Amino acid sequence: MEEGISTMVLPVGTPKSLLSHFAAGTILAANLQEAVKLLSEVPASSPTPQFKERSFNWPKEILLNTEEKLLIQCFLVGGHPTILLGPPGVGKTTLAHAIKILRNRLSPQDMVEVAKVYAIAERPTSPILENTLIPWRAPHHSSSREGLLGGGQGLLPGELSLAHKGILFLDEGLEFSRHFWQSLREPLEEGVIRHARAGRSLEYPAQISLLISANPCACGSFGSENQTCLCSSGEIQQYWKKIGGPMRDRLAIRYWMNGGGERAPLQNPLAFVEGIEKAVKRRLRIPNTTLQEYLRKNATYREIAQIEDLARTLAAIRGGPAVSPEDQATAHSLRTGILGRIPWF
Ligand SMILES: [Zn+2]
Repeated sequence: MEEGISTMVLPVGTPKSLLSHFAAGTILAANLQEAVKLLSEVPASSPTPQFKERSFNWPKEILLNTEEKLLIQCFLVGGHPTILLGPPGVGKTTLAHAIKILRNRLSPQDMVEVAKVYAIAERPTSPILENTLIPWRAPHHSSSREGLLGGGQGLLPGELSLAHKGILFLDEGLEFSRHFWQSLREPLEEGVIRHARAGRSLEYPAQISLLISANPCACGSFGSENQTCLCSSGEIQQYWKKIGGPMRDRLAIRYWMNGGGERAPLQNPLAFVEGIEKAVKRRLRIPNTTLQEYLRKNATYREIAQIEDLARTLAAIRGGPAVSPEDQATAHSLRTGILGRIPWF
């Protein structure tokens, strides 16, 4: 509908919850003949349906500082794979909760695509169709392999596909199995996950924005200013080994949370969300630029590409027509933000 389609023909029996989003331009037909007949009677211009206004009741306990607000914008505008690091109790889960509240809306096209995945997974489609927001999936690390990735006997979609076009939040990310982390690489790169069983194979979509929260080490105090880490360097390396180097390379934003800065509740969540929606559209028109020489130092090809991509997101948030040197510098610090604390990242 956003692309100028004014009329949609759906089969008789389409759930009411789906119809409510397309009501203004939708006709129901029992068969193709009836569809042709009804379409010939449709006036040339039908009104385009509008999503209902969003409203927010911001939880008082969610306080954000300036950096955290920028991080939320970057994540929701660009969908860059992000890890939130810091000692327990510093507010990683609260920040993730703020992202959940502020997450974008699905386009009507994506909504149909996501609803299809839910229908195949034999899950209720009403949460998707009624709140119209991109999916938010936060599976527990103890979930089964099948539950997370999908497949198994019924070859059903798992959490990875239920998060298609939305957010997959892995709280206590380092608690997930090594196998899971390895299995995540391909979907993250290709946007699909493949399953095979007893001669049958199929693929499900899995275009996800990955959000991870993790303690910096097993005891949680590594890098903390007022607590002592009890882990040996070998234990810390072992702890991080689970994610694996290639997967760590894919994390474009590494944000170290220290709980500092002036924190306040979000003043106008609706304006914040509208700003994100505008930036998503603006980003598409911002050309990529080559990273400045001093920021390229010691960076791999992938890092450079990630920083350039992040800089486009920052330019879109700023409202600029093009990437500025400041956008590149900020992108660089987001990508390398925890360097010096966890050297092998
Ligand atoms: Zn430790």
